[in-house]
Order: sequence, then structure tokens, then C-alpha cells
Amino acid sequence: MTEYRELSEVNKIAEELIPKMGWLDLPRIKFLVLIADRSSYLGKCSKATGKWRHLTNVDYVIEVWDNYWATATDNQKRALLLHELLHITSREKDDGTIVWGIRKHDVEEFLRVVEQYGAWSLPLEELLKAHIEYESSKQEI
Ligand SMILES: [Zn+2]
Repeated sequence: MTEYRELSEVNKIAEELIPKMGWLDLPRIKFLVLIADRSSYLGKCSKATGKWRHLTNVDYVIEVWDNYWATATDNQKRALLLHELLHITSREKDDGTIVWGIRKHDVEEFLRVVEQYGAWSLPLEELLKAHIEYESSKQEI
């Protein structure tokens, strides 16, 4: 059985992250917690389009999976919500209207390729560099 509920903790963390997203305007985002025994994702960002956008007055729905959220650390919760918020893009058209979109991941790869060939592509090199910077920033604190 699949159900959804709202959780103030999700909204609270998102409210802290949203001002730093750099969007051209504020999209209308609804945050939901997915209650299900299984989920193929920890979090998901969906763009509401057409009739659903019109009927709901929502631009995006961000879901987090309850089973993951319940055991996640604060760091993991923030990382998951930042991940989902980064799927949201905004750009300005020539007439000044803002177009909202969905951004794909910076990196998509199989573990087996990395195990055999390391960070062989530019996105993977950048991912590795970002991880090294993160690890060294943790040590400075
Ligand atoms: Zn994603």
C-alpha cells in the first residue's frame, strides 16, 4: 500500500536550502513523504505540468521515502533534499517569462566501470575532486 503524508521536518530543511538555490523565482514546491514498504528511490523530484499544475497550483513535487528518512542522519537528509532541489532549473525566455525545468544528474555511471577504469570521464573526475574537497574541508573543522 502506498500513501503519502507531510512532515514538517522535511519542509524545515528545505526552507533552509531553498534561498541558496539561485533560481530566478520561487517555484511552488510540495514536499511529501512516501509511505511504502519498498521504493525504487530515496527521493524524487517531479515537475507538475499541464492540467496537474493548473489544478494543484504546484510546480514541483518532491518526495522522500519514509523508510530511508526514518533512519537517515541529518547530513543524509540535507544531502537528499539538496539533491532533489537541484533537479529544479529556471531560465528566462526572451519575453522575460521564467521557464522551469528538470535537470539531469551531473554523473551517471556503473560502479563496475569505475572499479575497472577509475574516474575516466570529466564528470567523474569532477565528482572525485568534489569528494576530495569535501573530505579535506571536514578535516579542517
Ligand atoms: Zn536525482
